[in-house]
Amino acid sequence: MRASPFIFPIGDLLRSDALPRRVAIEIPVHWGVELTKTAPDVPLRADLTLAHVSGGILVRGSVSVAVDNVCHRCLTQTREQLELEVAQMFVPEPGDDAHDANEADEYELDGDMIDLEPMLRDEVVLAMPMLPTCGDDCPRAGVDHLVSAGESGLNTGTPEDEGGPSSPFSVLQDLFDEGE
Ligand SMILES: [Zn+2]
Repeated sequence: MRASPFIFPIGDLLRSDALPRRVAIEIPVHWGVELTKTAPDVPLRADLTLAHVSGGILVRGSVSVAVDNVCHRCLTQTREQLELEVAQMFVPEPGDDAHDANEADEYELDGDMIDLEPMLRDEVVLAMPMLPTCGDDCPRAGVDHLVSAGESGLNTGTPEDEGGPSSPFSVLQDLFDEGE
C-alpha cells in the first residue's frame, strides 16, 4: 500500500529514452479557502501524462473537481465543477548547496518518486473563485449595489438595465406575439 495515492515511482522516466506514461487519479480531497472547498462527496479526477523532458519531468493533463462555494453576499451554498488544464515541471532535488537556484514555479521530485499532491492542490486552490457568488439573482446583490453605488463604478450594470420587463423591446415583442 502506498503512503499517498498521489505518489508514483518515476525512476524509469528520468532516462532520456523513457516513454511518457499516463496516470489516472480518482480520490476525494479536502482542499479549500475560506468560502470555497472541494466537495467532500465527489472525488477529484486527474488524467495526467508524465513525460521525460530535458531537466526533469513534465506533468500535463486535465483535472476535474467539484467545489462547494459559499456566496460572499448571502451565504447560500452552490456547487461548481472546475475543469482545469495543468502543465508543470518537476525537477530533481538540488544538492544542499544549490537551494538558492530553486525555481519558484517548479516542483521537486523526491528521488525516484513524484508527489503530485502539492501541484494539484496549488492548481485547484488557484482556480477557486476569490469572491464566490450564488449567481446574478443573488437576493443580496441589490443590497450590495446600493451600498457600493456611491463609492465606485463597480456592480453598476445589472441585467435589469438592459432587457428586463420594463424594457421597451419587451413591449414590441408582446405585440409581435399577439399578431401571430
Ligand atoms: Zn448570494
